[in-house]
Amino acid sequence: EVAVLRLGHRPGRDERTTTHVGLTARALGADRVILAGSGAGRGETIEDITDRFGGPFSVESTDEPIATVENWEGPVVHLTMYGLPIQEVEGEIRDVAGIGSDDTEDLLVVVGAEKVPFDVYEAAAFNVAVTNQPHSEIASLAVFLDRLFEGRELDREWTNAQQVVVPKAEGKQVTEPE
Ligand code: SAM
Repeated sequence: EVAVLRLGHRPGRDERTTTHVGLTARALGADRVILAGSGAGRGETIEDITDRFGGPFSVESTDEPIATVENWEGPVVHLTMYGLPIQEVEGEIRDVAGIGSDDTEDLLVVVGAEKVPFDVYEAAAFNVAVTNQPHSEIASLAVFLDRLFEGRELDREWTNAQQVVVPKAEGKQVTEPE
């Protein structure tokens, strides 16, 4: 399983970003998102999308995100511009998490909002950068997951959807699943 932990949500300012972290985690192959503190308020929107467009995907919350990181049983990846380049460590992360094998470990992917506590840098097995330039938790999560799964997440099957988009070169078509 791959879980994404969203740290440091700031009420007001981070509402859409936290929602988008959850939706990106869901769309690009993670199994669940854990929303820290007041970020938990975005859970319902993410669950609504899962109800409409399918799963499986779950939303959890925690008031003790540092404990979640420190007590995590499997490998922890923290996405940060100060980390090691993703292209240098992605293979090792796939290996330790068993991605693509039958023997997977639970992988936790941590993204921040404002300043991330140093405890997270220390507790993470991998501090990973998607370029060493400052950008966004949504963008870094998207690139990380796509690299982790080597693009296979794009072909994922969805279950229990109420709506399915029919891909079209032009226009919009949505149907109910068969
Ligand atoms: N200035 C903050 C700090 O020093 O921790 C980070 C702010 S940034 C808007 C929010 C989050 O985006 C970070 O916590 C990190 O997870 C992610 N992020 C931003 N740039 C990144 C990069 N180049 N590589 C990986 N993650 C990045």
